[in-house]
Amino acid sequence: MTAEAQNDVPGALGGAAEATSHGHLDPMIREWPIIASIAWEGFMASGRGHVVVEVDGDEVGYRYQAGAPCSCHAVAVEEYDPEAEVVVAVSIGESLDVYRLGAVPSPFVVWATTPGSAYGATEQ
Ligand SMILES: [Zn+2]
Repeated sequence: MTAEAQNDVPGALGGAAEATSHGHLDPMIREWPIIASIAWEGFMASGRGHVVVEVDGDEVGYRYQAGAPCSCHAVAVEEYDPEAEVVVAVSIGESLDVYRLGAVPSPFVVWATTPGSAYGATEQ
C-alpha cells in the first residue's frame, strides 16, 4: 500500500530524518486500514473525534473517542476532513502523541472495502 501521512506540524513531514520524533508514523501507515476503518465508523456513529492507539508492550489496541484527545489538539479535531483524514492519538504509558493523518485510500473507501472482522468492529 502506498500512503502518505503528515503530522499537523508544518514542515514536519515523515521521513528518515524524522524517525526519532515521528517513530509511530510507519506503524500507523501499515495499520492504516484498521485506523481508517475505525475512524470512519466512529465518525458515523459519534461525530468528530480521534482514534486512540494504545500501545502496551507488544499489544496494540484501537478505539474511537469522540472529541479531542487534549485541549491543544482541539483544533485538529474541529478542522480535519473525516472523509480524507484521521486524527490519531498514540498512547504509550504516560506519553500521548497526536497526529493528523491524510492517506490514500481515504477512510471512507477503506471502511467500505475492509471487513469489520479485520478491525474487530463491535456494536456500540
Ligand atoms: Zn494536544
